[in-house]
Amino acid sequence: MPFVETLDSLALRKSELVHRFEHLIAPKSDRELEAMAQISRGFTLQNFGRTMRLFAPLYLSNECINNCRYCGFSRDNPILRVTLNVDEVVAEARHLAGQGFRQVLLVAGEHPKFVSRDYLAKCVQALRPDFSSISIEVGPMETEDYLPIVEAGAEGLVVYQETYNRAVYAGMHTAGPKRDFNFRLHCAERCYRAGFRRVGIGVLFGLSAWREEVVALAAHLEYLLKRCWQAQISVSLPRLRPAAGGFRPLFPISDRELAQLVCALRITFPQVGIVLSTRERASFRDSLVSLGVTMMSAGSHTEPGGYTRQGSQHLHRTIRGRIVAPEFQNGEDQLATGQFEISDERSPTEIATVLRQRGLEPVWKDWDQALSGT
Ligand code: SF4
Repeated sequence: MPFVETLDSLALRKSELVHRFEHLIAPKSDRELEAMAQISRGFTLQNFGRTMRLFAPLYLSNECINNCRYCGFSRDNPILRVTLNVDEVVAEARHLAGQGFRQVLLVAGEHPKFVSRDYLAKCVQALRPDFSSISIEVGPMETEDYLPIVEAGAEGLVVYQETYNRAVYAGMHTAGPKRDFNFRLHCAERCYRAGFRRVGIGVLFGLSAWREEVVALAAHLEYLLKRCWQAQISVSLPRLRPAAGGFRPLFPISDRELAQLVCALRITFPQVGIVLSTRERASFRDSLVSLGVTMMSAGSHTEPGGYTRQGSQHLHRTIRGRIVAPEFQNGEDQLATGQFEISDERSPTEIATVLRQRGLEPVWKDWDQALSGT
């Protein structure tokens, strides 16, 4: 049965596991929450040891043909745009490698003309010598379009459903191919069929009531763990951040609730990776590191060229689908616009130091792959 059928009947029929998860995310007293935290810490230690995988996002392009009300890259936002060429991508990646990163997430808006499968395959191929793990977070594609990207050396794919509520999804995605809810929903299985062996899913908190969203997320995780059993499945928990367009979260989730959710996910899915990005402020990230989170981004930039000022020679704006020159001379000290503002602005070295102080070993490299010699 495809996941869409499970999702559409979730209000009537839930698995035992999802029922247990639902109980764990219900409001709790401080004592109950502390008890959950202890179990969660134990499971994390048992399954992941005292380690934290560190990765960096590398934004390739902020071109996009969709309008998502909450995103700075939406096509109707007259932002400064650019798609880095392969040499510029390599320059950005070398900077990250110099900081110690060996795991990179290539991120781009959805624009097949600028961010085609061949372009992505070329980027992956160029970065392969310097990185042990390359993942992509781009517009969903057909299975066959993923094949050359996997062949070039990418092993991970991240795709957030954003919201599992169809009505909210329709209201948030007002134009472009992203309006196709089911095509996005099935992306994780398509990429698995193409050979990706790390699959990340998530919801974007702030669009809809969080408890309903994460029940659907848990059902999706349960489904993927059975169907995509050769892949490592991870889940991200991004909360909306300020971005061009000025969208404000409609349904907040508090720090306490997010911490409870991390524990509930760890207890329900002991082996699933939990990812926390620099969207969260430093002190809150630090408090979650031993609770259940297993992977963190560090020192992130969300603008293409943000690490080494690449691409500043060919910036433009897109106004009603037309590319127009910026109002300044290209080459002036300008950068493409970022997707959203980050909150934890510490350097990767500073974050690694904090992790060590808390008894965790920062892992810059995917040792599984390094040991298997692939
Ligand atoms: S969320 Fe993705 S698809 Fe939507 S506007 Fe932003 S980059 Fe484009």
